[in-house]
Amino acid sequence: MTEDLVLRWLRLAAARVAEARERLTELDAAIGDGDHGINLDRGFREVVRRLDDGALPAEPQSALLVAVGRTIMGTVGGASGALYGRAFQRAGSALELPAGGEPPAPAECAAVALEVAVAAIAALGRATVGEKTMLDALVPARDACLLARRNGASLAVGTAQAAAAAEDGAARTIPLLATKGRASYLGERSIGHLDPGAVSSAILLRALADAAADR
Ligand code: ADP
Ligand code: MG
Repeated sequence: MTEDLVLRWLRLAAARVAEARERLTELDAAIGDGDHGINLDRGFREVVRRLDDGALPAEPQSALLVAVGRTIMGTVGGASGALYGRAFQRAGSALELPAGGEPPAPAECAAVALEVAVAAIAALGRATVGEKTMLDALVPARDACLLARRNGASLAVGTAQAAAAAEDGAARTIPLLATKGRASYLGERSIGHLDPGAVSSAILLRALADAAADR
């Protein structure tokens, strides 16, 4: 990635989250407490506000991502605020360069960032794939992105494959039984619904792919 791409991604993600606010909230009302769209929209709006105010460092991308993570952590709330916040912070830290270091290729940065973000969410949420959480979108996305990188794919191709894998993974949460987070309180009644966090993860990754595509 580059600063420029991260900035375009954040603005596009904020617009897509705003569009999906009602839908995400309805999904969360079915198996949670109905705040996911509201929470995420509040957080991304604040990210954009701080970008406009120059309150976030626009570069390097590592510092920008860490600051976005802090903003999300402080404004989103709920489980997803802590999880996405930590993911952005860890991804940013992983992209820090040693003094005088050469930045890796954008496709490499995206794969590293996604790998670290997914590991951070799994560790903090003590969750794994198949538990009807955002990881059901993010783990297949990470795997697709890593595979694309191994095959020498460009950033645009790698992120597009990650977004497609996330969308597919989110759709596959419908038959799953939730065993983590608020939805797990429903037990068997969590079956038959999309996981809101998996859907929002797919939205964020589609925004990244679209930001990477129109370079
Ligand atoms: P809350 O459940 O606190 O109201 P949100 O509604 O903002 O938080 O987010 C709910 C989403 O967070 C879920 O749909 C799920 O994807 C994700 N989530 C919840 N708990 C976990 C966990 N332990 N590990 C990974 N993801 C989780
Ligand atoms: Mg909720």
